[in-house]
Amino acid sequence: MTATIIKGTEVRDKILEEIEAEVAEIKEKHGVVPGLVTILLGEDPASISYVTAKIKTAHKLGFNEIQESQSPDLSEEALLDLVEKYNKDDSINGILVQLPLPNHIDDKKVLNAIDPDKDVDGFHPVNVGRLMIGGDAIKFPPCTPAGIQEMIVRSGVETSGAEVVVVGRSNIVGKPIANLMLQKGPGANSTVTIVHTRTKDLAAHCKRADILIVAAGVPGLVKPEWIKPGACVIDVGVNRIGEKISEKTGKKIAILSGDVDFDAAKEIAGYITPVPGGVGPMTITMLMKNTLKSLKFKLGIA
Ligand code: NAP
Repeated sequence: MTATIIKGTEVRDKILEEIEAEVAEIKEKHGVVPGLVTILLGEDPASISYVTAKIKTAHKLGFNEIQESQSPDLSEEALLDLVEKYNKDDSINGILVQLPLPNHIDDKKVLNAIDPDKDVDGFHPVNVGRLMIGGDAIKFPPCTPAGIQEMIVRSGVETSGAEVVVVGRSNIVGKPIANLMLQKGPGANSTVTIVHTRTKDLAAHCKRADILIVAAGVPGLVKPEWIKPGACVIDVGVNRIGEKISEKTGKKIAILSGDVDFDAAKEIAGYITPVPGGVGPMTITMLMKNTLKSLKFKLGIA
C-alpha cells in the first residue's frame, strides 16, 4: 500500500481561502476586520522570521496587523504595560508575544497577563482549562494541535471510535492534541492513549493506533514495523539532521526530518504527513483562524 500524502501546504491554502472570504464578509456586514498584534523583543533572526511570516499572512488576509518591535532591554514592567495597552484596545482581537523572551523577563508572568479572550495562541491557563472542559467552552485551541486535527478531519479519516496514540506529552503538542481528539463531538470521539519516555512498550501502543500522532523530537523514533497497515500517521517532529546548499538560493539550509521513517512508513500507512511540508504550515494558519474566531466571539457570531 502507498499512503495518501497529507500535504500541509494544500490544507493551509484551503483554510486561508476560507478565512479570507469570511473576513471580507464580516467587513461588509459589520465594518470591522480582525486585529492581530505581535510583540517582539530583540533581533533574534528565527523570531524575526516567525513574526514576519505571521504578520505577512495576517496582512494578506485583510487583517489589521501591528508589529511591535521593541528593544531587548525593555523592562518587564514596560512589556506588561504594552500587553495591557493591547488588552484594552478594541481594534485588537489577538495578542502574540514572541518567545523566547530575554532572561530578565518572566515568560509566564507576561503570557498570563494577556487577556484570555485575546490569547489566540491558546496557552493561557484559562484557555487550557477551557480545552479540558471541552465542547462550547473551547475558545482558542492551541494552533499546532488544532492544525493536526484539521489535517486529519479534512483528509476524511474517521476519528469516532478510532484508537489514537499520541507520542509525547508536552503542553504545546502532546497534551492538547490528546484532549482535542478526546472531545465528545465531530472530528474527535477517539479513544486516546498518550505515551512518553517512561512508557513500557512504545511499539505495542503504536502498533494498535488507527491514528498515530508523533511529537517527540527524535528522528526515526517510530519504526515502520510499529505502524498498523492503513493507519493515519501525523509526524509533528521537526529535527535538523544536517545542512545542505539550497538549489534556489545557493545558501546553506537545514536538512529536516520528522520522527517517523517517512519512506518506509508510507508503504504501510494509509495516510501520512511529510516533513517538511506537513504539520509545519498549519500552525500560522490556525493562529489566523483563532484571531478571526476572537473577533467573531466579540461580535456574537461565533
Ligand atoms: P518536547 O516538549 O521536547 O516534548 C517531547 C515529548 O516527547 C516529551 O513528552 C517526551 O517524553 C517525549 N519523548 C521524547 N523522546 C521520546 C522517546 N524516545 N520515546 C517516547 N517519548 C519520547 O517537544 P514538543 O515541543 O512537544 O515538540 C515535539 C516535536 O514537534 C519537536 O520536534 C518540535 O520541533 C516539533 N514541533 C513542530 C511544530 C510544527 O510543526 N508546527 C510545532 C511544535 C513542535 P517525556 O515527557 O517523558 O520527556
